[in-house]
Amino acid sequence: MQTRNVLKVIEPQTTSDGAGVRLKRSIGTRTLDYLDPFLLFDHFGSDAPEDYIAGFPMHPHRGIETVTYMISGAVDHRDSIGNAGTIEGGDIQWMTAGGGIMHEEMPHRSDGVMEGFQLWVNLPARLKMTTPRYQNVPSDQIPEIETEGAVRTRIIAGTVNGVRGAVSEIAADPSYLDVSMPAGTSFEQPVERGHSVFAYVFDGAARFGTDENQTGHNVPATRLVVFKDGDVVRVETDDKPVRFLLVSGKPLEEPMARYGPFVMNTEEEIYHTIQEIRSGNFPAPVVPDETR
Ligand code: FE
Repeated sequence: MQTRNVLKVIEPQTTSDGAGVRLKRSIGTRTLDYLDPFLLFDHFGSDAPEDYIAGFPMHPHRGIETVTYMISGAVDHRDSIGNAGTIEGGDIQWMTAGGGIMHEEMPHRSDGVMEGFQLWVNLPARLKMTTPRYQNVPSDQIPEIETEGAVRTRIIAGTVNGVRGAVSEIAADPSYLDVSMPAGTSFEQPVERGHSVFAYVFDGAARFGTDENQTGHNVPATRLVVFKDGDVVRVETDDKPVRFLLVSGKPLEEPMARYGPFVMNTEEEIYHTIQEIRSGNFPAPVVPDETR
């Protein structure tokens, strides 16, 4: 069993998106353009409504999945095919945009602070145009386990100690864990060899990638840790607790043509998508799907 060592530690870039939502971006930047299959990773959080209240008004997606995980506050969601709802603190929404969706995402707070994450996962060529699908899982249906030292892991996707996550049947075979470790504890999680793996530290600090031969990297919040290949991720805390997301996925290794919220395999597919938008034919009516 080879411990995954740290490839790099990335400081998120502060940027703004949508109609003016301030956020910290750590995948989808010049520093880290793509961590196959992950296209984008944003952390939004503020106690000042002007940082997020303008939200993300109606916009399209095609060829990807968007994964919204809220820590506190909420996001009201509404789309072109009649879905609507609210993603609240602790809830996850795993949306497969597939062939196309138009939606709006409007954050608001519940108790002072609004904080959450959005991850974009690329779809393989065979599922780029699949029927849109939602997996909305409320907080109380996300499995949570406790291991030695009162380390708590919420299992959004993937399997930990035989417990399966809330979200399933995703092309990238992902795991998505929210891990809380008290001070002076350790955590180990097997991961698939060859998969891309990152951790995002959003509270406290911890040491990542430790094995018998090296001392590991001390990583404070807020940083993204990208791992080298291996079989297991190891994390240890010293005098501080930590909370981080641990995410892995199978690389697609396919050609990519990317234009904002559209991610396809060829420039021609992007061109056609833009033509559909211009002519008012996006998203095309949903047809029954047999590729899944
Ligand atoms: Fe969106």
